[in-house]
Amino acid sequence: MSERKYGFATQQLHAGQTPDPVTGARAVPIYQTTSFVFKDFASAKAISSVEEFGFDYTRITNPTNEVLENRIAALEGGTGALSVASGSAATAYSILNITHAGHEIVAAKTLYGGSFNLFQNTLPKHGVRTTLVDPADTDNFERAINERTRALFVETIGNPDINVIDFEAVARIAERNGIPLIVDNTFATPYLFRPFDYGANISVHSATKFIGGHGTSIGGLIVDGGNFNWANGKFPDFTTPDPAYSGFVHWDKWGNYPGVGNIAYIIKARLHYLRDLGASLSPFNAFLFLQGLETLSFRLERQIANAQAIAEWLEANPEVEWVNYPGLASSPHHELARKYLPKGPGSILTFGVKGGFERAKKLIESVKLFSFLANVGDSKSLIVHPATVTHGQLTEAEQLLAGVKPNQIRLSVGTEDVDDLIWDLEQALAA
Ligand SMILES: *Cc1c(COP(=O)(O)O)cnc(C)c1O
Repeated sequence: MSERKYGFATQQLHAGQTPDPVTGARAVPIYQTTSFVFKDFASAKAISSVEEFGFDYTRITNPTNEVLENRIAALEGGTGALSVASGSAATAYSILNITHAGHEIVAAKTLYGGSFNLFQNTLPKHGVRTTLVDPADTDNFERAINERTRALFVETIGNPDINVIDFEAVARIAERNGIPLIVDNTFATPYLFRPFDYGANISVHSATKFIGGHGTSIGGLIVDGGNFNWANGKFPDFTTPDPAYSGFVHWDKWGNYPGVGNIAYIIKARLHYLRDLGASLSPFNAFLFLQGLETLSFRLERQIANAQAIAEWLEANPEVEWVNYPGLASSPHHELARKYLPKGPGSILTFGVKGGFERAKKLIESVKLFSFLANVGDSKSLIVHPATVTHGQLTEAEQLLAGVKPNQIRLSVGTEDVDDLIWDLEQALAA
């Protein structure tokens, strides 16, 4: 856009968009079309064989989605991004893009329930196994790596443990072993944490959460840090002729793309996994995520202030057994949160009520303003019982492994007046 490096609030409004060249539309238009008319035969051939970038079919590329992709890549400091139909698709594609049957990944055990299932139950059926490790001791990642390992996977703020990982230590282990570090940055968003600044190589997002911010749409994003050498010998798909695209070599074509840099990973994800498995984001949802992104930093600032106030109020309440929020000095993750998340550790917290499961159930059934549902990151405040809902499909042993406890309640704090939220919790605790 210009020589100046714009700040976050400017970029969340402007990055990745030039006003529509035909109409001058200021907002990003919704290109609600399946396909695009080719200029001529030569152009049809060039676009279809990826000799040049262009639009042909919305499963693979769409101008509305492209603005969203460019904007998230700019905000996160990556070289490129891919929008997909859900955060789950983003996570799955991020792994499939660099693994084959026989490969393994090593992941933190504190994971979103859906990712836990993907890694423990679904990917193994296709020959890709995951070793889950306790991320509190980062040496556990090193110990779990073997010659078949192709990635490390962590969440910025773990779910439901609300734990913060020592990213630099994990990134060093990944680098030493020649494998990428993939970070699920959903709970932090690029406003609170830019994974590539700390050595991560790929980030994934459930845009469904804070990026959308209004609970209207399911979507996901993968961002390429452009900082991994896919030609290091472990990833021959990048360095040998691709039979799916007339034998070109991805690393040769996209390893150092003029003016952009290394986009090999994200282009390959689009050309193989979005093309062949087809979890495309609808342009209408891409538009809604762009609306959400415009106010991301402002919503988060308010949500963090509200979450901090609620965490402190809960901690001082004698009916509450424990509170887990990295913004509290009592949190074992407080120091790491201050280092990696100086703007604040997000707006999700967990707490345990005295009286066990029955009391937790009663509280959740008694709230009037918090919504009892399975989501986070909405502007509206949300409450859930992880053991029943988000991690409800897991066995009790798996729940314990993931840090889910029977009396545990999870809040996703929204942008309401904080006094109203505290009033609601107070009356529900008294119920
Ligand atoms: C919700 C969520 C996902 C999955 O995203 P969907 O958009 O629901 O498919 C993945 N990771 C985290 C941390 C999430 O909160």
